[in-house]
Amino acid sequence: MKVILKSKSSFSHYYNVTFDFYDGKIRILCDCPHGDWKRVCKHRLALIAGDKSMLYDRRESDQLDAVLARLKNPEFDLVLRAYYQKLAILEKQKKTRDEGIKELNYDFGFRLAEGISISQS
Ligand SMILES: [Zn+2]
Repeated sequence: MKVILKSKSSFSHYYNVTFDFYDGKIRILCDCPHGDWKRVCKHRLALIAGDKSMLYDRRESDQLDAVLARLKNPEFDLVLRAYYQKLAILEKQKKTRDEGIKELNYDFGFRLAEGISISQS
């Protein structure tokens, strides 16, 4: 079973997201630039999450429901949850790192402006 749904795009009209069920596997492809490079894209994530506001053609809503019903699978769910868990951890680390860099730059800027002792030169 292969289902092709149109996902809204901010650049062109839409991208085609293909849900390909074959040999006990699900392959999900998108023809956007990220998808072409096998990178995660918002089009696939949105449709996998059941975000119908991303459907370019609302008449494809029932087809998305049918796909989502087939994606309700323990193995797929495990992979999806692992992805989101790792993503959440990395984003938290990124936030901590970004805040650390901001604080370091703030402190160093403050020291540069306030004066740093060079009396030993
Ligand atoms: Zn895409």
